[in-house]
This record gives sequence, structure tokens and C-alpha cells, in this order.
Amino acid sequence: MGSDHDHGHGPDNHLQPIEARVRALETILTEKGLIDPAAIDAIVDTYQNEVGPRNGAAVVARAWTDPDFAAWLADDATAAIASLDFVGRQGEHMQAVFNTPDEHNVVVCTLCSCYPWPVLGLPPVWYKSPPYRSRVVIEPRAVLAEFGLELPESTSIRVWDSTAELRYLVIPTRPQGTDDWSEDELASLVSRDSMIGTGVAADPDGTEAAATPTAGTPGTP
Ligand code: FE
Repeated sequence: MGSDHDHGHGPDNHLQPIEARVRALETILTEKGLIDPAAIDAIVDTYQNEVGPRNGAAVVARAWTDPDFAAWLADDATAAIASLDFVGRQGEHMQAVFNTPDEHNVVVCTLCSCYPWPVLGLPPVWYKSPPYRSRVVIEPRAVLAEFGLELPESTSIRVWDSTAELRYLVIPTRPQGTDDWSEDELASLVSRDSMIGTGVAADPDGTEAAATPTAGTPGTP
């Protein structure tokens, strides 16, 4: 196995000691007037939504613009992602799952909170929450609707259960009307949630695209 994080333990046990220490530190610093908890929340939110997922967004944008890279990503995501220098703990074994018009992918860790840190950064709170972990498997369409993602009935939903051995990165479909866009511009359309599968890439006008993608989805018939 070779991992310090397996599923033999109870849910979230591996997080409790560090979370307890962080909470204790935050309490002390707040009581001493040294930090503002709201500022901490803002920083964490920034890492969850902006800084962390930028690596993943770069992977997606490269896949959209470079068919050879997309094929490599479909075949060996760990190596393809490592070629962009996005390596590290909790990302040793990656699989990319490509959305298509017919199939939408969404990622969960039903047992705890396995998440591809090198490409997405810190997992959001809801990803670790028991309701998301249990419900997305049972009623994915309803859960996605609660995220504001209404998929056509003709689009099937595939749920991927992460483990310590394998972390998934959803490759959303490329929004239409972006043929002339640079890789950097394309990456700006790729949100964290679109790479977990609870969202899709944004449209060029800034709204979330409908699930009506274009080409660039290797690994599928
Ligand atoms: Fe886990």
C-alpha cells in the first residue's frame, strides 16, 4: 500500500488530531486578539476556490488545447499531470475522467475525504460532509441539482469513489465559443467544482455552461 492514509480506520479519524490542534490554536489566537476568524475563513476560502484548484484548471486547459496531452491524460493521468510539475502527497495515483454529452462524472470519497491535493488544493467542507458522501452515490442527480447543476435526462451520471490509492480529476467539457482562447483564458473558465463534477466549466460570458460540450474528450467512444 505504501500510504499513510488508508480506509481501515473509522471516518475522519486521520483528521481529528490536526483539526483539534488547529482549532485550539485558532481559539487562543482569537482570544488574544491576534487574529480575526473571519479573515482566516477568507484565506481558507481563497485556497479552496482559487489558489488550490488553479493547477487542475491548467491541466484541463492543456487537455482542451493539446490532443496529445489529452490522450496521455486519459491513459496515464499521474504521469501527464506530473509533467506539469503538479506532484505531491495525495496525488500519487491519479485518474482523469472526461465528461461527454452523454456522461457526466462526479467524484466523492464515501469513506472519508480523499481528494487530489496537488491539482485541487484543500477539499471544501461539503466534500467531507456525511450528507454529500452518502447522498451523491444514491441520488447524484438530485445532489447536483442542489449545486445548481441541472443535467439533461439524456446525460447519465457516473460517480467515482476516491480511495487512498486513486484520486480522480474530472475533465469538464470545453465551453462552446472558445475556439480562439488561449490556455490561460481557458483555465479561467475551470472552477474547482467543475473538476469535482458538482459543476461545469463556465461559458465565455461568465455563466456556467449547459452540459452541451464540444470535442476534446478522449478515452470515450
Ligand atoms: Fe478518503
